[in-house]
Amino acid sequence: MGTIPSKKYIFHYQGQQATYLISVSIDKNNLTFSCSCSNRQPCKHIHHLVLGRTVKVQEEEVIAVREMATFISQHPDGKTYIEAAIRYFQNDDSCRRCNSKNIVDTKAKTFSAKLYKLISKHRYYCKDCHWSW
Ligand SMILES: [Zn+2]
Ligand SMILES: [Zn+2]
Repeated sequence: MGTIPSKKYIFHYQGQQATYLISVSIDKNNLTFSCSCSNRQPCKHIHHLVLGRTVKVQEEEVIAVREMATFISQHPDGKTYIEAAIRYFQNDDSCRRCNSKNIVDTKAKTFSAKLYKLISKHRYYCKDCHWSW
């Protein structure tokens, strides 16, 4: 395991409505994140970057995102953030109850999603165990 340098990063995350400024500071004792969306922390934007996802950042920031994600994965506190991010995205594509991937996002614009919206008042519906959340 390498030593973790003290680093500060600023990323520009291109969201649907706005570009969010995400700042990350790393030193061997602490990991600090903040995002200009001032959503619940850490927000979706930070979760993406923690996992090293670069699709929403400017091209010149791609290498820095990967570098930061590597440092986070080596950091003693990093595991907590990485697991939280994985859990966050899992909720989007697998059932919270049975873990099936056979789920419907009732907000999708497809015809079948609209049908499921009639039987589920929640966002997601699992076709296997009929749970919704
Ligand atoms: Zn954010
Ligand atoms: Zn299920």
